[in-house]
Amino acid sequence: MITQSYDTTDTEQSSDVAAIRDAIRDIPDFPKPGIVFKDITTVLRDPALLKKTVDYFYHRLKSQNIAYVVGIESRGFIFGAPLAYQLNAGFVPIRKKGKLPGPVARQSYTLEYGEDVIEIHDDAIPAGARVVLIDDLLATGGTAAAACELLKQIQVEVVAIEFLIHLTFLNGQEKLPATCPMHAMIHY
Ligand code: AMP
Repeated sequence: MITQSYDTTDTEQSSDVAAIRDAIRDIPDFPKPGIVFKDITTVLRDPALLKKTVDYFYHRLKSQNIAYVVGIESRGFIFGAPLAYQLNAGFVPIRKKGKLPGPVARQSYTLEYGEDVIEIHDDAIPAGARVVLIDDLLATGGTAAAACELLKQIQVEVVAIEFLIHLTFLNGQEKLPATCPMHAMIHY
């Protein structure tokens, strides 16, 4: 039987990753001129590619004793929930301000114009628990860095922050604290 392992870091050569990469669609000038939007709906709509994507993260993380998968609103939810199911872990959402009904921890971060706030239920994860953070794409890193700070506030152990796509030319990884080791499936 041939088994494929993604536990090593050199995964971008695998045919599965190549197929996922081929399916990601570039939409120029969305949502505003000059931005090339990486559209992942073309991956999600394909049953085989959706499965390969979730399986990729599962194989990377299956031996890491992950207790919770934390998804960043909103595309982090798409991969986060099935990944949590596979890892036999819980799923916890990080949401934009005002969406969560219970008591929250919050973290603000600066945008190009102004400020934004993300929140997590402050009783969702016990202190010291091993978690993985997941989102679709690392761009400037503002959102991901704020998510890392939020998890620092509630004192959990971030085993990794995982992305489907890393836009390396925006240097977002430099914003991430050392408490959040970063990995992405596909690099541009
Ligand atoms: P950032 O805080 O700049 O790292 O980006 C925050 C979020 O914006 C990411 O999680 C993506 O969902 C989305 N995003 C930013 N740039 C792009 C892009 N070029 N294509 C698709 N989504 C993007």
